[in-house]
Amino acid sequence: MGSEPKVGPRVGVLALQGDFEAHAKLLESLGAHPSEVRVPGDLERLDALVIPGGESTVMTLGVEREGLAEPLRALAARGTPVLGTCAGLILLDRDHLGVLDVRAERNAFGRQLKSFEADLELQGVEGGPVHAVFIRAPWVAEYGSEVEVLARLDDHPVAVRQGNVIAVAFHPELAGERRVHRLLLARNGRG
Ligand code: GLN
Repeated sequence: MGSEPKVGPRVGVLALQGDFEAHAKLLESLGAHPSEVRVPGDLERLDALVIPGGESTVMTLGVEREGLAEPLRALAARGTPVLGTCAGLILLDRDHLGVLDVRAERNAFGRQLKSFEADLELQGVEGGPVHAVFIRAPWVAEYGSEVEVLARLDDHPVAVRQGNVIAVAFHPELAGERRVHRLLLARNGRG
């Protein structure tokens, strides 16, 4: 019997704006097949999706313009693993796509000045603290009972999970931190 070819998971990266290329590179280094998502058709047959950081206002306009809101909600609702980082967390919250039962507070650490790095214990990630880059980052100001807090900074939730959806307030992809993406890939059972 021939052995089956090992195919890496197909991971879409929302590419309307923001640092989607850094995510794609990181995913490739983990053996996944990243593809850019710009229109609803790009969401077909994905094993997982990343919503990157950027400017949530610009990304929201793009989502509306391209008619992506409903298809994105549907993808999350059918259990496809989703990772949102920074502005991605904001897009997933109650006031935007409503995929996560959280309210994100934008620019919560202060505006332009507050970019910083921190090492965080992230529940579910082994091998020591996660190196996190925060750039005008949000935090989670409120969350519902279905939401699990995976990490806090100054007592504010900065990493959460609700079922198949993980969201972090920071940028793992800018710090060469691959374990958060591994967590995403582990959830589809193919990574
Ligand atoms: N401050 C941005 C916003 O509110 C998020 C910043 C980021 O993604 N690094 O949309």
